Amino acid sequence: MAPCLKCGGGEMYYDPRVEAGHHGQLRVCSCIEEQCRCGGRPPYYFWDEEARNQRCPCWSARRRLTEVGRMFKEADIPERYRWKFREDFHSTTPDGAPVRIAQDARLYVSTLIDTDKEPERGFLLHGRPGTGKTLLSCIMLNELMLNRFRPGRFLNLSKYLQQLRDTYSEDSDNYGRTWRIIEALGKIPYLVIDDFGVQRGTEWAKEVLYDLVDTRYADKRFTVITTNQPLSELQQLSQGRIYSRLLEMCKLVEMEGEDFRQHLQPKV
Ligand SMILES: [Zn+2]
Ligand SMILES: [Zn+2]
Repeated sequence: MAPCLKCGGGEMYYDPRVEAGHHGQLRVCSCIEEQCRCGGRPPYYFWDEEARNQRCPCWSARRRLTEVGRMFKEADIPERYRWKFREDFHSTTPDGAPVRIAQDARLYVSTLIDTDKEPERGFLLHGRPGTGKTLLSCIMLNELMLNRFRPGRFLNLSKYLQQLRDTYSEDSDNYGRTWRIIEALGKIPYLVIDDFGVQRGTEWAKEVLYDLVDTRYADKRFTVITTNQPLSELQQLSQGRIYSRLLEMCKLVEMEGEDFRQHLQPKV
């Protein structure tokens, strides 16, 4: 049977219509709804004609929807980027000026999800503030979670470093868990490290960054890095060790153009 045109066989989609709250919601596709006999009520069983209690045809899709919903909650994506998908990377500014990077941006997203293979290379998105780096990184994360049903995480580096510092403090719940935290982030299938390199500070911070990057590198995990810093500065980090890893793991993309944050304003 040909895959459903609406969901492409993924059996779920994001419906951007806002009914309650500030955003739309994940829904199972109509190709599943049509077969459903349980009325969409957990635990998704129904009574058939011979009075046998059967698993509804919607069972696996609805369970997966719940699971993906949980992944989105745990991904720690900033509110304004939480439900952004590829069509949200607009190709013109609100005043009609073209956004040069838009076509490439959509193409990058497409190489991640319009294929059966897990992505092998991540992205290093660099350029001045407001060119859509964080937006694009979150779109990649969201599309991957939605289409591949595997978890992702948006990492704010300052928060991360603070969390690691706490592991040295006996009063903290995380006392002694330094390596476990690094390891957990190393294993997440899809990771965005936002605003990379702002923490030029201490040797310790650089070492921690290197550990994280190197763990992801060793396990070949998909990683997107965004940075406002000139590449020449990234090259300085840890005598170039971090930068050379990043180049092996990531496609280098320069983001340029107008202040992209305007694109997130609702259209009038
Ligand atoms: Zn469908
Ligand atoms: Zn059902």
